[in-house]
This record gives sequence, structure tokens and C-alpha cells, in this order.
Amino acid sequence: MSVEVEALSKKYGSNQVINQLSFQINKGIFGLLGDNGAGKTTLMKILATLLGFNEGDVSMFGYSLRKEPDAIRAMLGYLPQNFDFFPDATITESMNYFAALKGLIGQRRIQEEISQRLVEVGLEEHAHKKIKQLSGGMKQRFGIAQAMLNLPQLLIIDEPTVGLDPKERIAFRNLLHSFSEDRIVLLSTHIVPDISSTCDNVLILKKGSCLYNGSVDEAIHKVEGKIWLVEVDKGQLQQLSNESRIISVVRKRGLMQVRLLDNSPPEKYGEYTLETPNLEDAYLYISDNERGP
Ligand code: ADP
Repeated sequence: MSVEVEALSKKYGSNQVINQLSFQINKGIFGLLGDNGAGKTTLMKILATLLGFNEGDVSMFGYSLRKEPDAIRAMLGYLPQNFDFFPDATITESMNYFAALKGLIGQRRIQEEISQRLVEVGLEEHAHKKIKQLSGGMKQRFGIAQAMLNLPQLLIIDEPTVGLDPKERIAFRNLLHSFSEDRIVLLSTHIVPDISSTCDNVLILKKGSCLYNGSVDEAIHKVEGKIWLVEVDKGQLQQLSNESRIISVVRKRGLMQVRLLDNSPPEKYGEYTLETPNLEDAYLYISDNERGP
């Protein structure tokens, strides 16, 4: 029950976007992190069988992406970043269309499947509504419901919480947790705290290569004892930024409160505190320091 990416490469013209990428993931929720342009969307489109690649292969649940994309397609769900569908179709009509695309057969089974997925995302009472009548959050929930049709082994979601309010985010997180017990969820987001709260594991991509593939806790452990908070004035901030990796600066009482990453404490700037690290700190550290496997 795993997805193994093996020396995958993808070029757009001469632009190498995925570069000999290899990693393996088993069941659970995996967050995909990387700077803009790191290749996250390209990777997700390739895994979703929507985009070809130049070299390498992906083995999904024993099938080869290169040789057996149809078998793989039946086992996956995909929610793209800009999910916009026929605005004049109703939710039910659209769900039927996606069920047909996924190759579901048997009218009774299809209706049951659609109704279950709509209940899970809380849209059952809106099934008759047209897509253009839905709020941003409802559209997103509809996108999740179609991706979960036929309970895929691999669910790929790009920026899933954009447009969701805080309550909807929590509901979405709970839905993913119950869904992912025996499955793989790969989700990409720019909101790093969303990954900490939703994912057990994280994959960090840089220039199309994998820098880190492991648990969120282990990633954070890498920066334990390296994150400091200190207050400095403007002149000192300049000096400090030459010496340490600045994570954030907050103006406070006419001074700058600086969160920074360094092996040793910023002793010469006066009082400082050792901070509890988070995934954002770990992400910066790994992006700066790790070369990948
Ligand atoms: P991310 O999702 O991590 O921001 P993308 O996969 O969208 O990264 O893009 C990776 C790189 O590939 C970027 O340099 C982007 O400009 C380029 N790219 C993406 N899609 C295309 C395309 N259809 N044609 C040419 N270049 C593309």
C-alpha cells in the first residue's frame, strides 16, 4: 500500500522542474511544502495522471504510472488548485458526471456513493443547487466530495483550505483524518500551520528534488535548541541579520522583537529566550541546510 516515486524528471522546454525526484510514502496524511516554483503542482498533476513526464516512473499500489495509468486513475482522487466546474450544473448533476469519469457503474451504487460523500462534507441539503450559487467554502467542499468519490486509495489535494472559514477548516481536518486511516492523502498548502495540525508527515521539495521526507515531529526536532527571541534596535537588527537567520521581526515598544535561528544564543544583544520550535522554523532550516538524499 504505497506510492514510490523513482528518479522522476519533468522538463518544460529546457526548464527542469522535477529533478531525479525519489521518495516513498505509505498510509497517512503527507503535507507537501516548497517555495513557489518548487514543482509541487507539477508533481501533483503527474501523480494524478494528468501530465506526462520525461524520465523515471511512479509505482502506485503495484501499478506503473508509465505503463498502467488507467488502473491508477481508478484508484485516485484529485482536487486541483483552481477547481471551477460548469457553473450552471447542479451539485448532483456534477457529482454524477465525476462518477461517470471515474468509471463507477450501477445506478443504485452511484446514487448511494454520491449521497454519502455529500453527507460527509455537509452538502446533502444543497444537492439541488447550481455551482454558481455556492459560496467559496461550499464550492471547496463540493470539490472535496468529488475527489473522495469511490473512496480512492490516494487523495491528492492542492491548497485545500483556501476559501474555508476556521470552522470549515476544522471540519475538513477531521474529515481527512477519518478518511486517511487506511489511505494516502497528499496535500499541498502555503499555510504551514495547516500542515502541522493536519499532517503526520511532510515532504519538502526544493527545485524539484526532495529535501526531507519524514514525520513533522522529526523535522521540528532538527531545530530544537536553535530558535531564539531577542529585542534589538534598528541598527542591531542589521548586524544580527548578517550573523543569524532571521525568521520574523515584530515591532514592539519602539524596538524589534526578532525570532531567529542560530546554533548559539544571541548573547551579545542582551536578554534573550530559547523558543519552542515549530514547522515553519524547521522548513527554513531544512531549505537552507539540507541537500536531500
Ligand atoms: P509550485 O506548485 O511549487 O509553485 P509549479 O509546479 O507550479 O510549482 O511550477 C514549477 C516551475 O514550472 C515554475 O518555474 C513554473 O514557472 C514552471 N511551469 C509550471 N507549469 C508550466 C507550464 N505549463 N509550462 C511551462 N512552465 C511551467
